[in-house]
Amino acid sequence: MSATSASKVTVTAIAGDGIGPEVMRAVQQVLAAAGAQVAWEDAVAGGEAFARGISTGAPQETLDSIARNGVALKGPLATPVGHGEKSANVTLRTVFEMYGNIRPVRELPGIRTPFSGRGIDFTVVRENVEDLYAGIEHMQTPGVAQALKLVTEAGCARITELAAALAEAEGRRKVTIATKANILKLTEGMLKRVGEKVLAGHPSLVHEHMIVDNCAHQMVIRPEQFDVVVMTNMNGDILSDLAAGLVGGLGVAPSANLGDAVAMFEAVHGSAPQIAGMGLANPTALLLSALMMLRHIGDFATARKVEHALYVTLEEGVDLTGDIAAKGRGAQTDRYVARLIANLGRE
Ligand code: NAD
Repeated sequence: MSATSASKVTVTAIAGDGIGPEVMRAVQQVLAAAGAQVAWEDAVAGGEAFARGISTGAPQETLDSIARNGVALKGPLATPVGHGEKSANVTLRTVFEMYGNIRPVRELPGIRTPFSGRGIDFTVVRENVEDLYAGIEHMQTPGVAQALKLVTEAGCARITELAAALAEAEGRRKVTIATKANILKLTEGMLKRVGEKVLAGHPSLVHEHMIVDNCAHQMVIRPEQFDVVVMTNMNGDILSDLAAGLVGGLGVAPSANLGDAVAMFEAVHGSAPQIAGMGLANPTALLLSALMMLRHIGDFATARKVEHALYVTLEEGVDLTGDIAAKGRGAQTDRYVARLIANLGRE
């Protein structure tokens, strides 16, 4: 992380595709109004990079910016489906070895769901660089395709250590390892075996193993039982979207990608092409991701101030975007941002 003259921290900002530029602008407006000590360094990835013929989706100058600053805020990147190009997201995660994907799942004030009032407050810790996302996939013979599920002991150990460190830092009690070890005994079984060994070294934490399909069921039936749930890449991807749905949906689901040298914060959602450019996007997910970023760079006061304004705004229920507003009362992104900014000074 690098600091400019006025002790501002320089952060790489990748607006991204679809609704990305809209939600990035919204978040930057709120953070500026709150006085966040951040200097943005704009960079490109995803659609614009593919259009320039960069098949990894991430130009070298973007990689240089992230490497220099050590911290990035990123909008969603559209991935061409079924063509030769790689996912720009996967490129960024693997280049910087951002092995830990942290996805908090917490009830928010004012957002009513069938699960409201249950006290849902857990974090999904998803392994972010191994598993089927290693991208080793090929046609074996015509009509037969094969993908490699790559899992290592070192990868299982570091993701479980991260889950344990997070649980301890947040004063949580339990870590659940959710795997498909009953069927994939070597790969999924490795996370169970290595994870249990790692957690045995953290006596302040209770740990348990749960078969991942049962975990999906339990997240819906009794979500309040979870504290920290650690999973391999693909299982974590799917179950964290399910978990987002418990507390208000993708419009309010934040995440962090952590490596040893770089941290990149982004909403869980994608580029939402159906609503791009229409002023309908909910910037809350990226805003909550930006709060994680502010805390990461040590700006706790601004994070608290913005979080409070957000909670007041959600509780008021006025000028919310359509995905979280009462039926027929959805507002444009700009109106929501203006309301957030107006609420910054509220106690
Ligand atoms: P999506 O998250 O873009 O959209 C799913 C649904 O949620 C849509 O109905 C969309 O309108 C809605 N939605 C998402 N974010 C919203 C917001 N902020 N406000 C209001 N509504 C919102 O998922 P998708 O359609 O499967 O993917 C679209 C593209 O995004 C694909 O190219 C995919 O590869 C990419 N993607 C990128 C990321 C990322 O960059 N991290 C993550 C997921 C998907």
